[in-house]
Amino acid sequence: MSAVLDPVSVLSDRVNAMAESATLAMTKKARELAAQGVKVISLSIGEPDFPTPQHIKDAAKKAIDDNFTQYTPVSGIADLRSAIAEKLRRDNNLDWKPENIVVSTGAKQSLTNVLLALLNPGDEVIIFSPYWVSYSEMVVLAEGVPVLVTGSLENDFKVTAEEFEAAITPRTKLVMFSSPCNPTGSVFTEEELRKIGQVVERHENIFVMADEIYEYIVFEGKNFSIGSIPSIKDRVITVNGCSKGYAMTGWRLGYIAAAKWIADACDKIQGQVTSGTCSITQKAAVAALTGPLDDTRKMAEAYRRRRDLVIAGLREIPGLKISVPQGAFYAFPDMSSYFGKSDGTNVIKNADDLAMYLLNVGHVATVSGAAFGAPNCIRLSTAASDENLTEAISRIKTALGNLK
Ligand code: PMP
Ligand code: GLU
Repeated sequence: MSAVLDPVSVLSDRVNAMAESATLAMTKKARELAAQGVKVISLSIGEPDFPTPQHIKDAAKKAIDDNFTQYTPVSGIADLRSAIAEKLRRDNNLDWKPENIVVSTGAKQSLTNVLLALLNPGDEVIIFSPYWVSYSEMVVLAEGVPVLVTGSLENDFKVTAEEFEAAITPRTKLVMFSSPCNPTGSVFTEEELRKIGQVVERHENIFVMADEIYEYIVFEGKNFSIGSIPSIKDRVITVNGCSKGYAMTGWRLGYIAAAKWIADACDKIQGQVTSGTCSITQKAAVAALTGPLDDTRKMAEAYRRRRDLVIAGLREIPGLKISVPQGAFYAFPDMSSYFGKSDGTNVIKNADDLAMYLLNVGHVATVSGAAFGAPNCIRLSTAASDENLTEAISRIKTALGNLK
């Protein structure tokens, strides 16, 4: 009989060092509860609740009928890379050629490719915090060291150029952030990004990973791309994708635009791991990128209305500290005034306990801020119907009201 294996001692240090995705873990828990017949409102996963626009779906159907079903070039088909280059010129003031673009299976893969391409063990990556859960774990996977630099709620959670510069060491290789930000909804202004750009300019060995996946979901003004600053252009990797702007999460398409040697390195990695993303998705993405943005604008308008609805509702709950999101589709209230309280059965010690309490007792799935680097906060996705959001806020208010 073989001895009982201890998985942790057999699994790689690499995987043992990684945390499970908190967004996906919470979504799984909510699904399990729903399968037991509980009417859970899921505000845990951040994904558009709208269908993919019709012209994009039509392009995919045509691709199937045209038998466009074979392997594609690793970095993406020529018409898609050209469409991305054109889109970057149109929307982002970024001048890249198709050869600078690598299309991947979601922005998740785009981000991971770049980290695997640039990091050596021990290289430090400054992550502006609160940050999207997967950033730190991707860095760990690539054997880098995440260095969290935290923005204050008073500054809408945004890290300042001074705070960023103070965290730089001789081991710093990269700085990464999303703007609009998941989980806070903060959006850096052009002025703020130019100041961050000046810091990068002064430290010539540092690269920037600018995740702009929520670029179309901005409630005031327009997204500014830090990569459009000429003096640092070659050191900025711009990441984007189709998931958020075109409601295409399940299609799996992300991309980077970067200096050719970085793009080539990503192509090399991807060529040994997944090859090009789905051929049909790529044709759909061409339609998304070259087609009208009416649906995208309508969705952004709905997210703004829901932001207003959720923030107004949260403001009526005592004890929360709230920063008003300027983009994306999340609310990120500080709920620490409820820590140390109990409903008689459940004791709330921290945000993890609170998220579990809201799920099990209030039947609303959220995500603890701990996984995003903000242990006082809870993240709620506002990408849900007005009706569900209103009901969720009411359930949260009742559940919190029972904590003494
Ligand atoms: N970046 C951010 C900030 C995100 O919130 C997400 C989650 N969807 C991604 C990247 C990854 O997106 P996808 O892999 O669906 O393209
Ligand atoms: N980006 C989304 C979120 O933060 C999708 C889930 C994930 O991939 O983490 O909820």
